[in-house]
Amino acid sequence: MTEKTYWAGKRAIVTAGAAGIGLSIAEALHKEGVKVWICDVAADKLAEAKAKLPGIGAVVCDVADPAAVDSFVAEAVAGMGGLDFLINNAGIAGPAAPVEEISTEDWLRTMAINVNGQFFVARAAVPHLKKNGEGVIVCMASVAGKYAFPLRSPYASSKAAVISFARGLSVELGPHKIRVNAIAPGVVSGDRIQRVFTDRAKTRGITYEEMEALALKAVSLKTMVDPEEIAELVKFLCAPTGRAITGQVLSICGGLEYTE
Ligand code: NAD
Repeated sequence: MTEKTYWAGKRAIVTAGAAGIGLSIAEALHKEGVKVWICDVAADKLAEAKAKLPGIGAVVCDVADPAAVDSFVAEAVAGMGGLDFLINNAGIAGPAAPVEEISTEDWLRTMAINVNGQFFVARAAVPHLKKNGEGVIVCMASVAGKYAFPLRSPYASSKAAVISFARGLSVELGPHKIRVNAIAPGVVSGDRIQRVFTDRAKTRGITYEEMEALALKAVSLKTMVDPEEIAELVKFLCAPTGRAITGQVLSICGGLEYTE
């Protein structure tokens, strides 16, 4: 089977697919001829993504809203005629603050999107993957879920939950030939990291440049990861190259051994 033959006719859902890492994943799959449906909370970014990637489905949906998720997944599966890949990508950075200063609202919102959202989307999508007879789920975690991550306790806790969710699902869904893995990116280039560094620098009373240097200090290769590199890893997992990989956490982080 050639590469192109494998991808032709495959169908993917990518959450938070209108920008950042999700858009890069949608773009990489679309380029192979995969049918792709994305959701996002930002209607303007969805319209831009739809213009950039002709033929994709783009729906406004907050992954923290179970009714909206059920309706998005149903619409996507009907529109594509089934489902092969679920890329459970949506997640927010949450607050950067000492634990005693984190509001209940910020904690709950981070969990609602990063943890509940993973569950709502997987719950809606799994019956369709089972019906397909095989499938792949990729849960977007973070190295923050693997190591101590000071001043970002909501985010780090939520990403540890994502890792645990993926591991559990991999065992549950293995008999259905559905592979489930988590990807743990490190410091990823793009708009989001600028927002995160600005917040974290403010919390620490240091400059943006000092925060960037501090974050890269722990990275062996002293480099950020590009969203396109994460998209290639997603493709590797979805393709036959990933046939024997399930229940794993694949870090893509330039060698990040701890976080500052
Ligand atoms: P981003 O902040 O660039 O946002 C991408 C998209 O998510 C945006 O279009 C936004 O509108 C959408 N979005 C936000 N809340 C949503 C919701 N409730 N429902 C649906 N869509 C929503 O994000 P990113 O940097 O591309 O991150 C994608 C994933 O990768 C997240 O799970 C994130 O935690 C993880 N991650 C990112 C980094 C990084 O440095 N950027 C590092 C590790 C892990």
